[in-house]
Amino acid sequence: MQTVETELAVVGAGVIGMSVALEMARSGAIVHVVERAPSVAAEASGAGAGILSPRLEVERADPFFELCLDSWRLWIEMNRFLADTTGIDPEHRTRGLLHLAATPDEWALFLRRRARQVEIGIETEVVSPAELDERFPGVTTAVPGAIYYPDEHYLHTDRAMEALYSACRAAGVLFIFDTEVALDAAGARVAGSPPGGARTVRLKAPGLEIAADQIVIAAGAWTGELTGALDVSLPVGPVRGQAAIAAAADACPPCVIYSSDGYVVPRTGGEVYVGATHEQAGFDRNTTDEGIDLIWKNARRLLPALDRIKPSQRWAGLRPCTEDGLPIMGPWPGYTNLLVASGHCRNGILLAPITARIVREWIVNGDPGRDMTAFLPDRFL
Ligand SMILES: Cc1cc2nc3c(=O)[nH]c(=O)nc-3n(C[C@H](O)[C@H](O)[C@H](O)COP(=O)(O)OP(=O)(O)OC[C@H]3O[C@@H](n4cnc5c(N)ncnc54)[C@H](O)[C@@H]3O)c2cc1C
Repeated sequence: MQTVETELAVVGAGVIGMSVALEMARSGAIVHVVERAPSVAAEASGAGAGILSPRLEVERADPFFELCLDSWRLWIEMNRFLADTTGIDPEHRTRGLLHLAATPDEWALFLRRRARQVEIGIETEVVSPAELDERFPGVTTAVPGAIYYPDEHYLHTDRAMEALYSACRAAGVLFIFDTEVALDAAGARVAGSPPGGARTVRLKAPGLEIAADQIVIAAGAWTGELTGALDVSLPVGPVRGQAAIAAAADACPPCVIYSSDGYVVPRTGGEVYVGATHEQAGFDRNTTDEGIDLIWKNARRLLPALDRIKPSQRWAGLRPCTEDGLPIMGPWPGYTNLLVASGHCRNGILLAPITARIVREWIVNGDPGRDMTAFLPDRFL
């Protein structure tokens, strides 16, 4: 039996696990990341579109909006840091996002929502079909209208994950791949604490035991399964998203083109990323012809020039989603060394930098530095 002793063990090498590991390693901690797959970003984080959009669907200035907005700000800094320290450019672009309405009813809804967004200071522009042709060439004009969000960003997910991994290694993070761990909380009551008092958790895998001052669960859609070993398992489960890319130099849009049925993201080199379904399919992350046809049909509606083009690659990922749609972040009550950073569902890439910052504040200062009530694991325990 090999025993690893470390200051921080992170379960999962997705965008959340790597971001937490990087933040803590930069604070001087000894960090191990343990991952079931043979490489990083093997699950949802490798599938994401990379849209960094805190404003699009916002109705009010609630704690979730504030979290998203703060993380969007941190990405600007993070992008610079990653590019400077690794030489890998995450291709973070600040070109905005265009949200197209499909029907007059939906357009009326967009306008009502926009009025509330303007009230809370979100910058938006109403774009008529005639203006679409002028300002966003190639985008369909067969819509009742569109709202442009000039401050929304996007990045190239593969490059960002590569840069994050490279930055982690440069900061001294140690990765243990091909290793599926379980939580072991049995018989681990803290010395001197009363029955039912605080306990510590270890990680175990065949032939391996990891003892850590702190453990962060960043196991994505598998967080529910992993935490099943404790008294209560967290309600985080998979929501499948199918996506595709194609070489489409002539049909590349000037910014992210978004609709209720899917979206198109431009990528450097003349590619387009087309996403994404939102399906309950358990842990099955195969693509289906129906799923890809659906998103591609929608993409052709948004950008008619895609009519001539076929997807060159397709894949699916499992978003880690919670019952109430909010992420889960914070210490697990009753354990001295266990924190959760999971359940980011459709916004995990956007929320990675703020999640890492908050987890660091908790571990280093014992206080997240902001009101986290809405996101604590406690709400499900
Ligand atoms: C098609 C699609 C498009 C998306 N687009 C966007 C977008 O535009 N913007 C955005 O912000 N978000 C987007 N998302 C959501 C985003 O990708 C996820 O929220 C994010 O990747 C979740 O990251 P994670 O690190 O929590 O999970 P994951 O990336 O799934 O990582 C969890 C890791 O934990 C590992 N693991 C699990 N259990 C164990 C265990 N017992 N032992 C060891 N390792 C374990 C897994 O192998 C996995 O690698 C999209 C998702 C999909 C599927």
